[in-house]
Amino acid sequence: MKRDADDGAECGGAASPALDTTLIHVGSNPAQQHGFVNPPLYRGSTVLYGSVQSMEETARDRLKRTLPAYGRFGSPTCRALESALAELEGGYASVCTVSGLAAITTAILAFVETGDHILVSDSAYMPTRNFCDSLRRFGIEAQYYDPCIGGAIEALLRPNTRLVFLESPGSMTFEVQDIPAISEVCRARGIVTLVDNTWATPLFLNPLTLGVDVVIHSATKYITGHADSLLGAIVCNEAIYPLVRASSIRLGQCAGADDVYLGLRGLRTLTVRLRQHQHQALTLAHWLVERREVAEVLYPALPGDRGHALWKRDFKGASGLLGVVLQPHHDKASVDAMLNALRLFGLGHSWGGFESLIVPGDPSAYRLPGQWQRSGALLRIHVGLEDMADLKADLAEGFRHLSR
Ligand SMILES: *Cc1c(COP(=O)(O)O)cnc(C)c1O
Repeated sequence: MKRDADDGAECGGAASPALDTTLIHVGSNPAQQHGFVNPPLYRGSTVLYGSVQSMEETARDRLKRTLPAYGRFGSPTCRALESALAELEGGYASVCTVSGLAAITTAILAFVETGDHILVSDSAYMPTRNFCDSLRRFGIEAQYYDPCIGGAIEALLRPNTRLVFLESPGSMTFEVQDIPAISEVCRARGIVTLVDNTWATPLFLNPLTLGVDVVIHSATKYITGHADSLLGAIVCNEAIYPLVRASSIRLGQCAGADDVYLGLRGLRTLTVRLRQHQHQALTLAHWLVERREVAEVLYPALPGDRGHALWKRDFKGASGLLGVVLQPHHDKASVDAMLNALRLFGLGHSWGGFESLIVPGDPSAYRLPGQWQRSGALLRIHVGLEDMADLKADLAEGFRHLSR
């Protein structure tokens, strides 16, 4: 634990502590909060200055925002979460936003201008895609690329390519991207790379250490972890941070006080929850592979998954979200009957909370031609923390409706 309120050093002794230890204390400073373990929840718009001089000093600090200036620029509670996420990702600093999608839009708008070309993974989260398409109104062209392209992305780069957006594994379809290969090509040309790291969390992948410039999280998912809040974060390297902070200020981004607090609280148990989600998901994935109703399980931690080798090389673990492709002969009516019959797997969007969820999806409706060729129905499953035997029984019962 940090004993000195002003000491920015790592916690503990000389050696840097293990992740489990870091998560307990990161962004926390009991000495500055009367010994209370958790930071106070600051609410507010106005911040009072003691003098004109301190008002001027705060104005000079504008883009770093280390001093409280106005509620919209973030409270000390918000800074605590931002510094914690930066430390966990190996970044310089981070910016919190009202949602994961707001983190994506704020980060992209930090860089683009009229006439730019941007490359976006074809496997990106659907609302990311909607936003990138909308940039056409401002004369910015979004082009989608095969997530498995790797270093061959070089052939798609144009003189006006400003950024490359990655998401690994991809939403719904779980392709693992070769982050080092893509960022190496981009870095050589001064093209900014951004990656949506929501699936892996800062525990299982640190893309900044693989060469990207910006890491984005929907903290709504595992970081808050209890389906009770919406929150986003953008973690940056030092060169990029002022641009992202300026973008967030321009757009009026500010995460709510309660949500920031819940994000900070969620961090403390992130390792415990994710270890269990990983264990549950892997167990269920192996079970699903054996089911005759299932054509394919999309989960990079599974040996035999298309992205397994890259996942093994770059990731430190896998979270609880996976895809299931059913055998092609199960039609929509029987898949609907299966979903309606489930009791433990809730039919609902989002994921990363304690509960199991399931949603159907159809990537062929929006992906590039040839990118999604499976003909069976696709289901996305979030494996929660319920008892595994109960979860299997629920799915087995659902499968019975499938084959009726
Ligand atoms: C949910 C999600 C988002 C958006 O997060 P919100 O907090 O719901 O806005 C972004 N990226 C990925 C990969 C997601 O799953």
